[in-house]
Amino acid sequence: MLKKFCVLASTIGALTAGALAQAQEVTLTRLDCGSGFNDSRRFSDVFAYTDPKVPFTFSCYVIRHGDEYMVWDTGFVPGSNPNAPKVSLTDHLAQIKIKPEQVKYVGISHFHADHTGQLPTLPGATLLIGQREWDALTATPPMTGANVAAFKHWISGGGKVEPQSADKDVFGDGTVMILRTPGHTPGHQALLVRLKEKGPVILAGDAAHFHENYESNGVPGFNFDRAQTIASLDRIKDIARNLRATVIIQHDPRDIGKLPAFPAAAR
Ligand SMILES: [Zn+2]
Repeated sequence: MLKKFCVLASTIGALTAGALAQAQEVTLTRLDCGSGFNDSRRFSDVFAYTDPKVPFTFSCYVIRHGDEYMVWDTGFVPGSNPNAPKVSLTDHLAQIKIKPEQVKYVGISHFHADHTGQLPTLPGATLLIGQREWDALTATPPMTGANVAAFKHWISGGGKVEPQSADKDVFGDGTVMILRTPGHTPGHQALLVRLKEKGPVILAGDAAHFHENYESNGVPGFNFDRAQTIASLDRIKDIARNLRATVIIQHDPRDIGKLPAFPAAAR
């Protein structure tokens, strides 16, 4: 009975997503942007974990909307550290026949180096970043942990930037929405992509770094704001429940398989 209900529920979810708009075909591709290990003890301010070495992945994404492209997060610069990707974002894009100048938008979940390293390779893209993230980047001095160097082109006025103070319907048809989810950093954002066949997918940024923190509303000690982190996790969970969305924790290797292996795209 329960199984039947689940099948029915996912069918309804897919129908709801399909009914939304989809005049333009929307696809979502995951790019490998690095891998390594992290000390789980850093990721709990209530001492929930003891494992000094848990696997981490680093994920970038490409969204195609009709003939327009958006990149979500850009990973470390290849060769910059042991966790950095072996293949550059530019080379990944070339493998799926996208030239950097074809990328219209680059959405950034937050300003840390593991999400922004290869941002300079997309100088023609309009930068979609949280208003408070932008304020922290451009403050004197900039907030600790902000990878200011990657944003030089946009901070200097060379690139177009649209700081977001609320959610953003990127293409105007509800298929791709930036979700304001502060807490990890002041202007942290997540991304909702509503796919016709797969249904809605939420790319959670660093709202949580692994399943255990997502499920328990766990907060890393280094987060900007504890209460905002928990409120944002609750928001993501409510959206996921209401839309029957697939939630992808970008750093959790267990979530890699939720999207097809590169170069295939979810649609
Ligand atoms: Zn991160």
